[in-house]
Amino acid sequence: MTDRTSVLDVLARMSSLQWGRWGGFDAIRQAQASRLHDLVRYAREHSRYYAERYAGLPDGVALEALPVVTKHELNGRFDDWVTDPDVTRERLSAFLADRTQIGERFLGRHAAWRSSGTTGEPGLYLHDAPACATYHALIASVMQRPDVAAAWAFGQVANGGRRALVAATGEHFAGIVTWRSLAQWAPQATTCELSVLRPVDEWVERLDAFRPAFLAGYPTALRLLAHEQRARRLSIAPSIVWSGGEHLTAAARREIEAAFGAVLIDEYGSSECLSIAVGCNHGWLHLNADWVVLEPVDARYRPVPPGTLSHTALLTNLANRVQPVIRYDLGDRVVFRPDACECGSPLPALRVQGRCDDVVTLRRRDGARVPLLPMALTTAVEEGADLHLFQIVRVSDRELAIRVPEGPARARRSSWEAARSALARCSPRTGSTTSRSRSTRRRRRCPRRAASCTRWFRPRPCRGAARSRERPAERHALRPERLRCARTCPVRVVAVEPSR
Ligand SMILES: [Zn+2]
Repeated sequence: MTDRTSVLDVLARMSSLQWGRWGGFDAIRQAQASRLHDLVRYAREHSRYYAERYAGLPDGVALEALPVVTKHELNGRFDDWVTDPDVTRERLSAFLADRTQIGERFLGRHAAWRSSGTTGEPGLYLHDAPACATYHALIASVMQRPDVAAAWAFGQVANGGRRALVAATGEHFAGIVTWRSLAQWAPQATTCELSVLRPVDEWVERLDAFRPAFLAGYPTALRLLAHEQRARRLSIAPSIVWSGGEHLTAAARREIEAAFGAVLIDEYGSSECLSIAVGCNHGWLHLNADWVVLEPVDARYRPVPPGTLSHTALLTNLANRVQPVIRYDLGDRVVFRPDACECGSPLPALRVQGRCDDVVTLRRRDGARVPLLPMALTTAVEEGADLHLFQIVRVSDRELAIRVPEGPARARRSSWEAARSALARCSPRTGSTTSRSRSTRRRRRCPRRAASCTRWFRPRPCRGAARSRERPAERHALRPERLRCARTCPVRVVAVEPSR
């Protein structure tokens, strides 16, 4: 591990953060304005892209007067966007293609990850060492909450401070890169990584043996584990549960808290800014306004007032200089609270409507439920088929469908074949029955390879979306290709032949 972010850097930023927030909302806004001014000046001096976009604008121009930037636009000008002259898309792509380097620093100095492409277009992201130290400090700032501090201390004593993560671990994604970066500060025996592509039964077995004090994961994965805990197939006692990467619903929060009896920390972040907001005990997210600007806007990028759900949000990351993100169309719909939160935080409170994934449940012929994690399905398609614009749809208790973009018949056929193969490879691992004995029985009864179960079906209209991977405006470009579970293995899905 070659993470250069030192403990001292993080501690210094934590101290600065706490000091700044003691000054209340005015001090936070002042720090935000000062950092914004410095970032805009730095970007126009060191990024060819921003120099062009900001040409003609006066120094010290208001944020609202700066042009909005999009992922597509920035990706298309990647080499001009970044401010480190040693960075090129080609070099970064080569680095990210090597999965043995997950968690390592690109060029020995920048954290690097790629997004899963929720808008159909995967992005490449770099974060410099000061930015990483800031993210770590923002995450650690939750320790100022007395309940979190007490739970952390208890976890150190009762469960040795052991930490477990359930996430997509096989790619350079933000979650696993950051996890491994932080893990360098802890003995190896106190950390445990669980892949979302592995069955729930395996998570249960490993977590039971590991007994974590701190459990982190996507809300959908945590909810599955909460179900296992309530059913007494899992018996762990984490004192802190961290949720991130997806929207945490109120129902999921209640379920997870009730199952584990732990302090639940909800964090809202993105590949462009790791820690945008952190949740409080009253169910609101509080914007890290000293390091982040988040503008709720309508479809024409005009501001919407607090209390109104936005069409999208414009993100400005004040911490990262190597790849400046200024008024970036994030794509998430947010609503800011018009009044102060009961928790007393001086930071603006908001809720996010987006990236809300439900666990997809299919049924075997014997009626047993088979939960499938959307993250596992989409990761399998993205990694195995290199498809980044698609929609997975649950069409019945036993069937899934995948929508793929319009295009030439040969290209669509090729995409379909790749998706089918990827799902066939992963399907025995993506789900599990709700009983371990049933899972064992299933494996024994169905020794055939997935390919032998493949069938072909014609498309038919789809009824319910399991997960949308594209923006509303792009939906018309997608057409359904049916996937179907084989008879004996419900988690084994096969694709319908494209109609053209
Ligand atoms: Zn609050």
